[in-house]
Amino acid sequence: MSTRRHFLQKASLTTLALSLPFSDSIAKALGQQEPKVLRVALMGLGSYASRVAEAMKDCSRAKLVGVISGTPSKIEQWKQKHGLSAQNCYSYENVDQIKSNKDIDAVYVITPNGLHKEHTLTLAKAGKHVICEKPMATTAQEGQEMIAACKAAGVQLLIGYRMHFEANTLDIVKKQRAGEFGKTLFFQGLSGFVIGNPSQWRLNKLLSGGGAMMDIGIYSINGARYLLGEEPIWVTAQETKTDPVKFGEGIDETITFQMGFPSGATASCLSTYSLNYLDKFFLSGTKGFAEMQPSTGYGPIKAWTHVGPLQHSHVTHQTTQMDKMAALILDGKLPLIPVDGEEGLKDMRIVDAIYQAVKTGEKVII
Ligand code: NAD
Repeated sequence: MSTRRHFLQKASLTTLALSLPFSDSIAKALGQQEPKVLRVALMGLGSYASRVAEAMKDCSRAKLVGVISGTPSKIEQWKQKHGLSAQNCYSYENVDQIKSNKDIDAVYVITPNGLHKEHTLTLAKAGKHVICEKPMATTAQEGQEMIAACKAAGVQLLIGYRMHFEANTLDIVKKQRAGEFGKTLFFQGLSGFVIGNPSQWRLNKLLSGGGAMMDIGIYSINGARYLLGEEPIWVTAQETKTDPVKFGEGIDETITFQMGFPSGATASCLSTYSLNYLDKFFLSGTKGFAEMQPSTGYGPIKAWTHVGPLQHSHVTHQTTQMDKMAALILDGKLPLIPVDGEEGLKDMRIVDAIYQAVKTGEKVII
């Protein structure tokens, strides 16, 4: 009886806590700490930043509180649209002043790839945690410098790998680790889309670091690693170009590549800027298989195995990603598939090796 009374008292206090403005203090009185919220500023207000900002409206652990942009009119629009305070908005010229801003915990770098290193180093120096978009940099060397800078500054560096939190992906990863497909010896990854405007930064080597491989092929590299649960030890690669004007020096249009793993597993992948609807993963084992198509687009992701389809409902990837990244930064809660700088660096080392294999025509040992 006393247990029931205790329960009723606690339940009515909880109801009160939810309905009153001073819910914080009541929650504390109940011994329930409100979970902390990660206060995030977005750097680079392009198309992906807009998607992330929309998705963050549904987050419970992460909140958009500021922006960094080179365009004053965009800052005004974003202030209005997202209710941001002027003190939390910066330009690239004065962003170092973010150091003294106690209302921003982390900055999400969503600028062109060629600027990721410079921006990460600036933010680490300012003492802010950094979430940086993929590819983390344009070379493994840059990635290493970013990791070192964040470590020296005592801030976390995470890479925007949204698929690492996606329900179908995680389900297949768990099944693979549990041996449901037997020994997994083959992965196929197909990643591509037809790129439009020839004057965009994605086709400018200095800003992109490369072509389709940097942008979309990296999903097949990353997918092979998390679905096979191993790190490749060699790569071979071949490049083809149908439009050398649009895809100039250092900008890969299409690359087919192969990776070999310690278990004897191999991966066969295609990365291209010249085919649409190319978004497919296939994992084959001695006892079964898994297939995903689409496998890395914004969703809904469709996945099935030798047993039948997976039935996970769609949640906006960036909403889950930002909540889980907040839990990682604030509570140290590690995800099943890592999203730290070292994870980004592993992909960059493979990208470097693939470009070397294309150049030399030889198998490159990693
Ligand atoms: P975008 O062109 O739409 O936006 C880039 C932003 O950076 C623009 O607001 C632009 O003004 C700004 N910028 C700052 N300095 C610049 C400079 N010197 N030159 C050009 N632009 C400059 O690009 P996006 O699609 O938003 O991509 C940005 C980053 O996000 C890239 O690293 C990309 O790989 C990544 N991305 C990730 C995903 C994902 O699903 N994880 C999806 C799309 C893009």
